[in-house]
Amino acid sequence: MKLEVLRYPDPRLRKKGLSVKEVTDEHRTLVHNMIETMYDENGIGLAAPQVGQSLRLLVIDTRPIDEDEKPTTEGLTELEKKVKQPIAIFNPEIVVQKDLTDYEEGCLSVPGFFETVERASYVEVKGLDENGKEILIKTDGLLAICLQHEMDHLEGKLFIDRLSFIKSNKIKNKIKKSGYPTPEEVVEERKKVRELRAERRANTSAPDKKK
Ligand SMILES: [Zn+2]
Repeated sequence: MKLEVLRYPDPRLRKKGLSVKEVTDEHRTLVHNMIETMYDENGIGLAAPQVGQSLRLLVIDTRPIDEDEKPTTEGLTELEKKVKQPIAIFNPEIVVQKDLTDYEEGCLSVPGFFETVERASYVEVKGLDENGKEILIKTDGLLAICLQHEMDHLEGKLFIDRLSFIKSNKIKNKIKKSGYPTPEEVVEERKKVRELRAERRANTSAPDKKK
């Protein structure tokens, strides 16, 4: 079942998610619906607070889609390839983080807006999988960035809160004044960002590529 994704400035996005003591069938149904919603919205990650559930749960799938609409591992880092996706993780916690990187981030709760955010480039995240089993994810690349972005949602934090005061206010005022772009405009904007990212990748894939 597809769920409604809340948009900034919905106050429910500001609530802290509660820890999940025990993963139940109800939680598994929520995971299933969140993954369906994420794919349907062409997102790469979704946190429970974004669908109005104040829980420490997030789902992620950062694999690129090929021409046949199938997920591929092309362009993923070696570490990313080792992680089975889609991921569902309860009570995620960063246990190790290293180095810094930046990326043009967007968010299903702030559709059509993209800005560069700085994050750790390598993280180790522990939590529970949908069977309640402890897992540890060690990754870099887009998956590391996405994990940190989604974990922010569990603290009631959005990527626009991580921007400079001026940039953040520019986005917030634009939304206040003219609302969100239409779905068509969001697609256009996404295309532009994708090109920008590809360009950046081409520039950084020089021999001394950052680890
Ligand atoms: Zn988000």
